[in-house]
Amino acid sequence: ATPTSVMAGSGRAAEYGILFKGGEHLESAQQIQTVVLDKTGTVTQGKPVLTDVITAFDWAEAELLKRVGAAEQSSEHPLAEAIVAGIRAKGHTLTQSEQFENVPGYGVRARVEGQEVLVGTRRLLADAHVEVPEATVQQMNDLEERGRTAMLVAVDGRWAGIVAVADTIKDTSREAIQRLQAMGIDVIMITGDNERTARAVAEQAGIHNVLAEVLPEGKAAEVKKLQDRGLKVAMVGDGINDAPALATADIGMAIGTGTDVAMEAADITLMRGDLNSIADAIEVSRRTMGNIK
Ligand code: ADP
Ligand code: MG
Repeated sequence: ATPTSVMAGSGRAAEYGILFKGGEHLESAQQIQTVVLDKTGTVTQGKPVLTDVITAFDWAEAELLKRVGAAEQSSEHPLAEAIVAGIRAKGHTLTQSEQFENVPGYGVRARVEGQEVLVGTRRLLADAHVEVPEATVQQMNDLEERGRTAMLVAVDGRWAGIVAVADTIKDTSREAIQRLQAMGIDVIMITGDNERTARAVAEQAGIHNVLAEVLPEGKAAEVKKLQDRGLKVAMVGDGINDAPALATADIGMAIGTGTDVAMEAADITLMRGDLNSIADAIEVSRRTMGNIK
């Protein structure tokens, strides 16, 4: 492409809120064969809301939520923010935790009023040797099959409850994904969330390929694996977790409403959260390079 056509293409893309960091990305975006989409905040709205609170028989909801709220208050994870907002909305006043530890990809561990509080995945509790009743595992599975993210709560080494949040897909995700598929592009969703929730959300969005339970540092490795198969890969994400994968991909696309870290790591910023911008970006590139099919 001539410098003039690249400039014209960049200008056209910018009108649609698609910002290319350099002309080389506008030239190479047309080669993309596989698009990897982060789930939370990319396919979904990224605004999870607290939907379910289940307590063990020996726990009152208010007592449990006080501890969960204190533990999650120190976390900046979107799940934590949803849990804290939901607990406040129920009218509870939150206290501070005495100690707090973020366990990336698994949850949080905190000391609240002298007790150890865990909130997070099955793995987080299993690693702490907390036994979870079979009926609870089933309740958790049911929530996940409905696309909710369910988190286990333990206090002083004993299972105490479940909190679950729901994060709905963006109105435009399904059509945007169909468009990419119609362009001959493979779409894969990647998430740290569990397999069941991920599958349920992917199904709502029309995505058939899912990589679930990927640890924060594992996203870049998954992108690399696809590249090793000879594929040209675009990664689309919004979170700090996504930054290494955005940098590894042939084209990294950051959602403009996401974190600065993601935007810094990416080659393209999509100012609109609408995933149609992915297809738009690739189409502008195909057109600019004279490769429109
Ligand atoms: P995602 O890529 O979907 O944002 P993460 O890798 O950050 O997922 O987290 C994976 C899983 O770890 C979450 O689905 C959740 O079960 C658990 N988790 C992470 N952070 C928290 C938290 N602050 N509180 C409770 N659970 C958490
Ligand atoms: Mg995200």
